[in-house]
Amino acid sequence: KTSHKSDIEIAQESKMLPISHIAGLLGIDEEDWEPYGRYKAKLSLDLFQKLETKQEGTVVLVTSINPTPAGEGKSTVTVGLGQAFNRIGKQTIVALREPSLGPSMGIKGGAAGGGYSQVMPMEEINLHFTGDIHAITTANNALAALIDNHIHQGNALHIDPRKIVWKRALDMNDRALRRIVVGLGGPLQGVPREDGFDITVASEIMAIFCLAVSVKDLKSRLSKMVVAYDYSDSPVTAGDLGAEGALTLLLKDALMPNLVQTLENTPAIIHGGPFANIAHGCNSIIATKLASKLSDIVVTESGFGADLGAEKFLNIKARYGGIKPGAVVVVATVRALKMHGGVPKDELSVLDLPALKRGMPNLAKHLDTLKQFGVPAVVAVNRFVNDDQAEVDYILEWCKSEGVQAAEADVWADGGAGGEELARTVLNVMESEDNNYKPLYELDMPLDEKIKTICQRVYGAEDVQFSPKAIKQIEQFTSLGWGNLPVCMAKTQYSLSDDPKKLGRPEKFIVAIRELRASVGAGFIVALTGDVMTMPGLPKRPAAMDMDVTEEGKAAGLF
Ligand code: ADP
Repeated sequence: KTSHKSDIEIAQESKMLPISHIAGLLGIDEEDWEPYGRYKAKLSLDLFQKLETKQEGTVVLVTSINPTPAGEGKSTVTVGLGQAFNRIGKQTIVALREPSLGPSMGIKGGAAGGGYSQVMPMEEINLHFTGDIHAITTANNALAALIDNHIHQGNALHIDPRKIVWKRALDMNDRALRRIVVGLGGPLQGVPREDGFDITVASEIMAIFCLAVSVKDLKSRLSKMVVAYDYSDSPVTAGDLGAEGALTLLLKDALMPNLVQTLENTPAIIHGGPFANIAHGCNSIIATKLASKLSDIVVTESGFGADLGAEKFLNIKARYGGIKPGAVVVVATVRALKMHGGVPKDELSVLDLPALKRGMPNLAKHLDTLKQFGVPAVVAVNRFVNDDQAEVDYILEWCKSEGVQAAEADVWADGGAGGEELARTVLNVMESEDNNYKPLYELDMPLDEKIKTICQRVYGAEDVQFSPKAIKQIEQFTSLGWGNLPVCMAKTQYSLSDDPKKLGRPEKFIVAIRELRASVGAGFIVALTGDVMTMPGLPKRPAAMDMDVTEEGKAAGLF
């Protein structure tokens, strides 16, 4: 029970079952999974045909209020809720994103849940896992090499080297690579040009990997990626370069979802992990769909708060995947709500009911948004040891008075047992409340109106201001036939507005759209508010400083 052991200590003390046992629990035949060591397996895509007539289980999405920089425990609650469902007799799979090494080495340390609600083997999941992210990095860089080679070999497509939008990628936080020059050293070394690196999880290939529904769809999306513009400003695609076959080949094995388990041996599928700003921030559609074929319930999560992750899940992922979510769980914490009520970061553990009350409008706005999507919502209060009971009770009472079902989640301290009440509440809501899930906009709505719809209805903005550049791009993208794509907003996760300092529920603000980017292969148009980082840097004291390997060969310091 309540312990102050570190995540890695808890993980290393737990007893994992062989992955054959977990596959057996799900009724998967031996020929349909491939072991990757003793505790990881890749699932065959043939399972989709085999399970074609099987009814899909219910997808439950976990999201949160606008978070503090430490995160509010979405992954922890996702894992804990999955464990809890299994304890009360519902066969459940947890579907999560693959952690990126950049943030792990930087600030996070790990991203596989926490306390007694973690996925295992956490060291491997946090490090190289089954190599999917390496495969995506390689596919990304193969395309970069093909572009530069094409120009070097005569440039039949008339690519303007000043208008190449495809960057190289690395799964690391490395600010020194943001802007570089390549091709220096004379005619034998290619054509000099300005280039740069993005972190792999910001690569369009990662977004495509997570939105593709089959190998065929993957290849078709890869071929549509715009890599550059030519001298007459027409887009040049990966398909124009003939690259889509090789890229699909590089991704073939990675596309198979990864099966692992939680600390309580609940099956978990961890697959794909795109950024939640420049991309949509959800694990792969293939993983979520396969999980729903294999179990009664799938608990999955989306990045950042409900204004970003859940909005994109409901407007982009669910639409492309044909997924109808059964319910959305909104994780709230006492500390984040007090922060929205104006309490400084270092005083969040002090009892302060008036501040908590002032912070509630942030939660209220997210619940209002989910109501607009027509999907039933449940509030989960993720309990921290410092929380005062009076504070937790206040949130639960507030929910009751608003007619929203809520439960405390003690899954960090107690694992699945601490989430049973939440699990029952979710079941109850799915049985008793109407589900009229519908995306917030139709695809034939013009791009500027889609952006306005999200800003006004999800963020609560008064209006949207488009920069002259953005206005020009909307015209250009529409004339290129991309006007019917959904919109992927890149915005700060800390505020409902585009200003990270405006906490709580800001009002009468105007969202400034600086620039658009076309992710035609992924199938969305990115709208950028403020500066969005696609290659993060490391902090002054990176989490990497704590990492080590013991003399016995055990990992240490991954949280
Ligand atoms: P998110 O998915 O929202 O980013 P995580 O689940 O990754 O959040 O949690 C962020 C960090 O907070 C992790 O280190 C996790 O162990 C820790 N954490 C989450 N919930 C609790 C809790 N109830 N008490 C203490 N620590 C927690």
